[in-house]
Amino acid sequence: MEQTLVILKPSAIERRLVGDIISRIEKKGLIITAMKMMRLDEEILREHYAHLTAKPFFPSIVASMTASPVICMVLKGVDAVSVFRKMTGVTNGRNAEPGTLRGDFCMSGSENVVHASDSVENANKEIARFFRQEEITDYTPGGINYMYGEEEK
Ligand code: ADP
Repeated sequence: MEQTLVILKPSAIERRLVGDIISRIEKKGLIITAMKMMRLDEEILREHYAHLTAKPFFPSIVASMTASPVICMVLKGVDAVSVFRKMTGVTNGRNAEPGTLRGDFCMSGSENVVHASDSVENANKEIARFFRQEEITDYTPGGINYMYGEEEK
């Protein structure tokens, strides 16, 4: 199964959306295998958002992402990366489809509540950035046979 990295951003923490977001992840059937609350700093954000460090708004990303602790999670599932990207919706919450996390929970292109890895390659890099291997549980729920058909697992 694939793994993907999720960050519940300060906007999710401060707006008390953590429970709602985790509830949707659980109901969908994505399996949480690791989760921790932590404070990010500029150094890790320069790595994580390397594709944006030259942008004029990069300092505002750092300010936004360090304003409160965040919650990082590893999710597991068949096609977990693309499934969770779809659940997240496009970057700007005002354009994100209703039914997506950003579409339902935010009105912003920066304070957009959640980070979702955008490819399997980036997911693996991002998971290694935020978690040590021993922090990720080798966990499969008892109900797995009701989450996937035999041929899908
Ligand atoms: P995504 O999070 O949808 O994968 P990007 O990788 O392009 O999108 O951007 C990373 C994050 O940087 C966004 O989620 C958002 O919080 C922030 N961001 C992107 N564009 C802007 C912008 N123009 N102004 C402020 N923040 C931005």
